Amino acid sequence: MNRIALDELKQQIPLLEYLQAHDWQQAKPIGFGRLLGLCPLHADHKPSFLVDPHKNLFYCYGCRRGGDVIRFAELYHQVKFPQAVALLHQWRGLPSLLHEAEGFYRMQLHRHAEAVAYLYQRGVRAPELIEHMRIGYAPGGCLRGWLVQLGYPIQTLRQAGLVTASGYDAYTHRVVFPLEGNLYGRSLSAAAPPHRFLPGAKGGLYSWEQVRQYPEVILVEGLFDYAVLWQAGFHNVTCSMGNHLNAHQYRQLCDLPRTVYLAFDTDPNGSGQQAAQSLACRLREQGMNVRRVSLPDGHDPNSFFVENGDAHQFQSLLEAALP
Ligand SMILES: [Zn+2]
Repeated sequence: MNRIALDELKQQIPLLEYLQAHDWQQAKPIGFGRLLGLCPLHADHKPSFLVDPHKNLFYCYGCRRGGDVIRFAELYHQVKFPQAVALLHQWRGLPSLLHEAEGFYRMQLHRHAEAVAYLYQRGVRAPELIEHMRIGYAPGGCLRGWLVQLGYPIQTLRQAGLVTASGYDAYTHRVVFPLEGNLYGRSLSAAAPPHRFLPGAKGGLYSWEQVRQYPEVILVEGLFDYAVLWQAGFHNVTCSMGNHLNAHQYRQLCDLPRTVYLAFDTDPNGSGQQAAQSLACRLREQGMNVRRVSLPDGHDPNSFFVENGDAHQFQSLLEAALP
């Protein structure tokens, strides 16, 4: 590969974007636009990893390694230069691949009555909601053929996690929701693990760009919780895909002063409520206004609406929510 092609690749993949996509979190800015955080390349306990987003360079004062995005990929994935370049090419190509997969899954949704019936049963009914969330369906056994015919090498599909090592579609009988740089698949079958993500980060808070403008936001654990609230007219809802927020999601939530309503599950083992409590503490330390929404026992926002709860009742829960 020649110098020009390498420079082009580096320009297309800003180092900071690549680091953040691999869950790197900056601890503090240190002037001249440079950032400092924990080093992803060694067991780091105090921030020693310096990033200069303008020069696209990093240096670690702990393990004394540094360089550009290709060097980072070499060290991070423990591969040699040509493999690192190949990985970066693949990573750059991922959005278009996921976009194709998403389009395919969306085409399948209305061809499969079982998928539509499942959505209906989970309270997802409005066509504009399905459109808004770009919901699709993975019947299994046909995505691979579609993508190969579009020219994607099978190796690329494996790397993206869309196809298993043995060559089958990774998602079968799953309702699929596109995320930022990932696809979430919810199994229709009780026999399979219910929740699946492709390898890599689950991305930021769901639909955050549309939500961050609101002075009050509702945070839920699951996309089906998000769906029923959005459908009921609560467009200030966002979702963390699980009750643990990654660093990126946490930063997003704290990017402006706002009120956050935590509407996590009230599951019998109490994990949702515990998570809500500890998140509430952390958010308060950041000066956020936090309210915990108390759903009837054993409910999450999805089951609340599915079992005939309505927008008016949920609004009352919001109003009754305690700090
Ligand atoms: Zn280091």
